[in-house]
Amino acid sequence: MNNSKLLFAEAKKYLPGGVNSPVRSFYGVTGDPIFFKSGKGAYLTDADGRQFLDYVCSWGPLILGHAHPHVIAKVSETLQQGLGFGASTEIEVKLAKKVCELMPTIEMVRFVSSGTEAAMTAIRVARGFTKRNKIIKFAGCYHGHADSLLVSAGSGALTLGIPSSAGIPDAVAQETLVAEFNRLDEVKALFARYGNEIAAVILEPVAANMNLILPNDGFLAGLRQLCDEYKSLLIYDEVITGFRIAKGGATAHYGVQPDLIVLGKIVGGGLPAAAFGGKAEIMRTLAPLGPVYQAGTLSGNPLAMAAGLATLELLEMPEFYDDLSAKSRTLTEGLERTAKRAGVALQTRHIGGAFGLFFTESATIESEGDVKRCDLQLFKRFFHGMLSEGIYFAPSAFEIGFISASHTEEDIQRTIHIASKVFTDLATKQFDFPLNGGV
Ligand code: PLP
Repeated sequence: MNNSKLLFAEAKKYLPGGVNSPVRSFYGVTGDPIFFKSGKGAYLTDADGRQFLDYVCSWGPLILGHAHPHVIAKVSETLQQGLGFGASTEIEVKLAKKVCELMPTIEMVRFVSSGTEAAMTAIRVARGFTKRNKIIKFAGCYHGHADSLLVSAGSGALTLGIPSSAGIPDAVAQETLVAEFNRLDEVKALFARYGNEIAAVILEPVAANMNLILPNDGFLAGLRQLCDEYKSLLIYDEVITGFRIAKGGATAHYGVQPDLIVLGKIVGGGLPAAAFGGKAEIMRTLAPLGPVYQAGTLSGNPLAMAAGLATLELLEMPEFYDDLSAKSRTLTEGLERTAKRAGVALQTRHIGGAFGLFFTESATIESEGDVKRCDLQLFKRFFHGMLSEGIYFAPSAFEIGFISASHTEEDIQRTIHIASKVFTDLATKQFDFPLNGGV
């Protein structure tokens, strides 16, 4: 038995399912999870010393790669001053200024410790500001695990088949209205019925928790128009897309402005920080200025602020996003080409440093239903085939792939080469999953 298996057996005694976050359990792909002990650049090393090329990147924060020297140096420097003071520090002001510069929709920002907290509080602010209770969200979009947002949720909730969690009172769930992503007609119908009760529409402008779904032309602009008409707020959850698909996130990429933006992952540079922000008029409803309460012992923690600031500084390098997008394109085009050659039906999507793989003949991938119709068994076999060759993709057909600045052209060509062998096996052999592989 290898070390990962031994550790997982021990973990299951003390942690429900052996994990602290469900998708990590490999429930979505069967088999036992891998325990990692270090990461450097685009590579991870597991508890048995095996190396993996990593397309998960800590689920998105590590856009520069693991243990980037600039980030490590800034965090180490800050660490020498102490772990945090529960009081204001200069570095949180610097990061706030940087976020406002990079995302001009954000005139004021508040830092919190997780994307869940950020999305939850953005909703509270929207309700406090509009004095309305209902929200509209989209099936398969994930905004963390706050009660009102765990209705028809994506990510792990979708992977585990529990998109609407137990433990949420009906009274709370009833305030959440759900539409299909990209279906403006459904949103229009909800507004026509509940118009002046709707505080906000919240969405991932590029849906990245039911694999990767891009907004159809006119979808975001249509939402903006409806929100203006009914005086509701438009909230973009850019926890994944922020600083990943463009320096200014999906807001800059698509040019349709929301009222509030939720950030996480990259803004904390790999440490626990997230944020939400927007128009000053709306943000002023937050305590201590206004009546909407929110607080956090570790909010604005200096180590997390240092990691976030160090990361954002490097994203401003010229060509950063062109390079990242070119890598995603090379990878997805290469995978599609080799899959086709082997007779495997594969569609892909990519934007900035994010990509999605769909095992399906259908070129239409616009909503949660389209993703659910993909061949999930084939994905599992692909996942394990790649893993056994040392390539680590997210262990769920509903999660996306992440590319970092540390992934090289050679890494990507090697991935395509290995995938071509795996695709041939998928098309010709009925192999069992070579569980928990690695090189
Ligand atoms: N919003 C989106 C779009 C996410 O992808 C996630 C997590 O993956 C969250 C919110 C919740 O963030 P966290 O896991 O930091 O609570």
